[in-house]
Amino acid sequence: MKCAEHIAQDAVATCQTCGRGLCTECTSIFDRPLCEPCARQENRSAIAHNEKLIGSAKRTLVLPAILFPVGLTLLIANGAVHDVSTFFRAVVLAGLLAMTPAGWSFLNRYFTPGGGYIFLTARWLNAFLHLTLSVLLGIVVGPYQIWVSIRDIAELRRINAGILAGGYV
Ligand SMILES: [Zn+2]
Ligand SMILES: [Zn+2]
Repeated sequence: MKCAEHIAQDAVATCQTCGRGLCTECTSIFDRPLCEPCARQENRSAIAHNEKLIGSAKRTLVLPAILFPVGLTLLIANGAVHDVSTFFRAVVLAGLLAMTPAGWSFLNRYFTPGGGYIFLTARWLNAFLHLTLSVLLGIVVGPYQIWVSIRDIAELRRINAGILAGGYV
């Protein structure tokens, strides 16, 4: 078999994806035997996949980014802030509000708001308990999710930049 790119050269390996022949030079371009078109294709799908993950990481940041300023604005507009300590309290309350959806969806993996608490028969009591637990869980889960999302976005962007810098896209 001859190299698909250099027809004068004998193939020493084949592309792992399409099976075309690769000469010594072509075999050493990538970290494993791949022809150039297949490597570009693979890089493009890797970038697209990472972009999708970046998109979903960004979506987890949207709700807190909206709820925190909205909550703080509402508290200020309703006269809840008149000095440093009431401002601090308003920041904490707005933070709790912003983190609660993360606690809520985390809790939903284990209990459904309507009927998950078999020891409580009243639906409103279930809902109240669910909301309370969501607020408490949100204190831990919310900041953790924000940190993970920001870290993932940075890491995935770094990976994509590395693929683009390689030139085979
Ligand atoms: Zn190939
Ligand atoms: Zn070649």
